[in-house]
Amino acid sequence: MGIIINKKLLNNIYKEIKKSDEIVIARHIGPDPDAIASTLALRDSIRSTFPDKKVYAVGTSVSRFKAYGNLDHPNFSELAKPLLIVLDVPNMHRVDGIDGLKYDKIIKIDHHPEEDIIGFYDWTDTTKSSASQMVCELILNTKLELTKKVAENLFLGIVSDSERFSLKNTTYETFDTVKELLRVSNIDFVPLYDILYNRPFSEHKFIAYITNNLNINENKFGYIIIKDEVLKEYNVDSATPSNLINNYHFIDELLVWTFITEDVKNNVYKVSIRSRGPIINEIASKYNGGGHKFASGAKPKTLEEVNHLLEDLNMACKEYEDNENKQKEK
Ligand code: AMP
Repeated sequence: MGIIINKKLLNNIYKEIKKSDEIVIARHIGPDPDAIASTLALRDSIRSTFPDKKVYAVGTSVSRFKAYGNLDHPNFSELAKPLLIVLDVPNMHRVDGIDGLKYDKIIKIDHHPEEDIIGFYDWTDTTKSSASQMVCELILNTKLELTKKVAENLFLGIVSDSERFSLKNTTYETFDTVKELLRVSNIDFVPLYDILYNRPFSEHKFIAYITNNLNINENKFGYIIIKDEVLKEYNVDSATPSNLINNYHFIDELLVWTFITEDVKNNVYKVSIRSRGPIINEIASKYNGGGHKFASGAKPKTLEEVNHLLEDLNMACKEYEDNENKQKEK
């Protein structure tokens, strides 16, 4: 069985790109490797295919991701209603770096459940592992060019969001797409893992801190509240825990786990949640959050809200476990 591609939709997206002289590509705030990689890959592919177009990948630059390439900081007042392509984000308030932009149409390419952004051409598919997989399918099925750098970024985005093809979002289509990506580009992909997984020893000590201080209860629910002073002690920032949370996927005693990190600068708690059973995005959405069924985030403002969130997640684990036990008894 091959990949089921909506060729007409992909072709319409390609045609819209082809006819736009100016294009701005944006992704979600607090980017992860998939958001960064998919954005830069699409920008570089369009630039390579159409050298005369003005194409910008916007959003806050993150020094941790500099190996993927540089983001752009265009002066929006000099653009004449560009095409806006949003990647990896379903809600307008989480799109990074488009304040003051007057755009024409929106094209949306995303693997999150649908929220308020509806693109003129809208490719929303929650069965895809990553936005990078979708951009890869777009490039492989249209006349958009696949340069070495584009292929490398796409590989990084897919591997990262699927956690090396180990998460539930991985399907045969993911493998099919990656196989085709590697066949067509012939990139040397093994060295790329350094970009994703090399980290300073201090960060490994921080991982040890999390492991030693994770509270795990009888419902297989795990949580840790990471204070700002701890981030400083280990020389990491408030975005680091969300980059580490997937490391905890294969622990017998965990069904749902969450890292709650003090973000002193923005006066909120930055919450990452992962699950191996209960659906968590509906819970996250009660606390200024959302995301995927089994990988979500939230931003509660007070410790009281944090405690409610912890209780909701704990109850979801209990209900899930009770249900599982009932099924076994049948
Ligand atoms: P993270 O734990 O930060 O890697 O986020 C996991 C998933 O949840 C990603 O798909 C994010 O886009 C999404 N997410 C994270 N934080 C929020 C939030 N505050 N609101 C909505 N979605 C979020």
